[in-house]
Amino acid sequence: MKKISLLGSTGSIGVNTLDVVERYPENFQICALSAGSNVELFAQQIRKFKPALAALFDISKIDALKELVADLDVEIVSGQEGAVSAASYSDADLVVSGVVGSAGLLPALAALRAGKNLALANKETLVIAGELVLKEAECTNTKIIPIDSEHSAIFQALNGESPERIKKIILTASGGPFRTFSLKEMENVTVKEALNHPNWSMGAKITIDSSTMMNKGLEYIEAKWLFGVDTNVEVIVHAQSIIHSMIEFVDTSIMAQLGIPDMRVPIAYALTYPDRFVSELPSLDLATMGNLTFEAPDLVRFPCLQLAMDAMEMGQTMPAVLNAANEIAVQAFLDELIPYKDISEIIRMAMHNHRPVELKELQDVLDADLWAREEATKLITVTH
Ligand code: MG
Repeated sequence: MKKISLLGSTGSIGVNTLDVVERYPENFQICALSAGSNVELFAQQIRKFKPALAALFDISKIDALKELVADLDVEIVSGQEGAVSAASYSDADLVVSGVVGSAGLLPALAALRAGKNLALANKETLVIAGELVLKEAECTNTKIIPIDSEHSAIFQALNGESPERIKKIILTASGGPFRTFSLKEMENVTVKEALNHPNWSMGAKITIDSSTMMNKGLEYIEAKWLFGVDTNVEVIVHAQSIIHSMIEFVDTSIMAQLGIPDMRVPIAYALTYPDRFVSELPSLDLATMGNLTFEAPDLVRFPCLQLAMDAMEMGQTMPAVLNAANEIAVQAFLDELIPYKDISEIIRMAMHNHRPVELKELQDVLDADLWAREEATKLITVTH
């Protein structure tokens, strides 16, 4: 029986993880849960999965939660410390992080520090503090198992071979809902259009990131940290999202991982690794699929991808600034405060105004993150 602490249980990854856990009641047990602010769903999950510890990030809703689960034997904690308690919960064999955004960093570090293997869906953790996170995992001899479908694909394609044999990683991208839009058409797309992803059903933040291809930019950085910062990573647009990514080895042989676009597949692999369990999900039907297509990404129409590659190249605190400015700009677009095309402009200006510093400790990341949030907010207020 593997005991799991699940962080971000009410988000898209969290809900899918619980779906997987429920399918294998003899193999997995939830010992701790953490969530942001969706009290109603969180209470239902606590009732169903009976964790010993439940952490709610939003302190203002803690009384409402306590009332909803008053009849249950569960310890309720709150705030950032609560999330950290869930992440380092002593009984847990594996911590799964599906937290959205940079809020995932502290719990992820806490899990590794407590000696827990970490199944990571929260890409921001590696984007903003890759160096520190890897150092922590090395010190405590813990493993980071990627859940992000592309990185799970690379992890599976690598299948125990040395990352030194990688010639390049071929990171596939769906291209999102605006893959075929002209630059002019992309200027005034609405929130509703941007939230309509052709292949994947995900949360709002990541769906907008997919439409701007910032998601691929963040994944580019994530891949560098997971598989070697000097590893060559190439992005290719593959509209059908069937090949989840590939590795070309030094002998030019390419290994690809294919499957239906359903997050429960990479989640299950992270939970069962290094084993694989029988799944009731539908098989991929290639004959029905027909064609798989590939094209180079257009960095003019999708400037966010270029900005992310630049941020990784510049290093230090620049990826943290890219990420924080993006979070603020995406939220402003969702709140209809800025037009779609300004998302990349806000990030570009924040990066331009930032003086990167060396990333020596956690505080350097937190300072850069806060600076970028304030800078992006200021840029939005000044220009709109
Ligand atoms: Mg992905």
